[in-house]
Amino acid sequence: MKKRAKPGGKYSNKIIQKKRITRKVYYGNVPVGGGYPVSIQSMSTRAACEKDAVLKEFNELASAGCEIVRVAVKDQSDIEALGDICKQSAMPVIADIHFDSRLAVQSARKGVAGLRINPGNIGGKNKVREVTAAANDVGIPIRVGVNSGSLEKNLISLYNTDPARALFESAAGALEMMESIRFTNLVFSIKSSDPMINVEANRLFAADNDYPIHIGVTEAGPVLSGAARSVFSLTLLLVEGIGDTMRVSLSGDPVNEIIVATALLSSLGVRDDIPKIISCPTCGRSHLDVLEIAGALEREILSRRGGIKIAVMGCEVNGPGEAKEADIGIAGTPGGAVLFTNGKKRRMLRGDYLTTLLVEIDKMIADVNAEG
Ligand code: SF4
Repeated sequence: MKKRAKPGGKYSNKIIQKKRITRKVYYGNVPVGGGYPVSIQSMSTRAACEKDAVLKEFNELASAGCEIVRVAVKDQSDIEALGDICKQSAMPVIADIHFDSRLAVQSARKGVAGLRINPGNIGGKNKVREVTAAANDVGIPIRVGVNSGSLEKNLISLYNTDPARALFESAAGALEMMESIRFTNLVFSIKSSDPMINVEANRLFAADNDYPIHIGVTEAGPVLSGAARSVFSLTLLLVEGIGDTMRVSLSGDPVNEIIVATALLSSLGVRDDIPKIISCPTCGRSHLDVLEIAGALEREILSRRGGIKIAVMGCEVNGPGEAKEADIGIAGTPGGAVLFTNGKKRRMLRGDYLTTLLVEIDKMIADVNAEG
């Protein structure tokens, strides 16, 4: 009898084509490129000068499983706060600089793990040379970020006829400049708010060189529509092996960006160390508050690392089947929730399902990680 494909298992990973082999850089202790897992990034919604608010967001992002963070540095008040932010952040911090190369130089000296600049607005080759010298002094990479909204003036007419080519030309020109001043500790990002232009521009760049690429759809939009737009575009890139680190840019709470990014990477099988949650939409038959349990569970386990599948199901109709297919799951019944692990019915849970489920999940993740 033909073996049945297990949803979320190895068969679903076959859509991933060969991974593009890239150079490796480090943001602090997080490797990017070189075959390492696609890392998950986000950015504070506040400027660095709002130190406490930035650190609060960073703590929430770290708890959600974010691995690299970025913060806007726009003037001296931000520079003054940057050292403390870098010291207190659990994740490597990248300083995001526009227009003023001196801020990039100062940020490098404040302990950031990386810089992000845009070649179209940082002030020409001599300014870039100063920034690369500062980055070299402390051994940090620079992300060269090309965005459709801030393209160099000489590429605007090309952008009007072939936007993907114009974005690629901007990135290729920046790469040529960086190599001419012998700075190669680089990550590139080429972002458009149009999902397909985004794909085409990154394809062109990926075919041209072996530098690591940060992928994302810029200004994707509010949470739901922005998530859909990002998932569409990033899926096309990831299945082609393009992308070494990523950000799902959404308006609103940045934790949503991590929820979408982890769901995408685990669903595609690009990351096999992220727990995956499935839950039913609920209907009039449900015996559980699936929305509350699955929502709380998602927030709790996002930062855990262990490739298990978890099911939260409302009733006896599809519940037992899905819970058995998962590594661990619960299905509602009139008398409580039945716990399933490794395809077998184990026991009836009553009362605080979430706490019990988390204990079982942690045991299972520990076992999975111990098995290696
Ligand atoms: S599993 Fe049960 S409660 Fe959930 S959607 Fe299906 S029928 Fe409704």
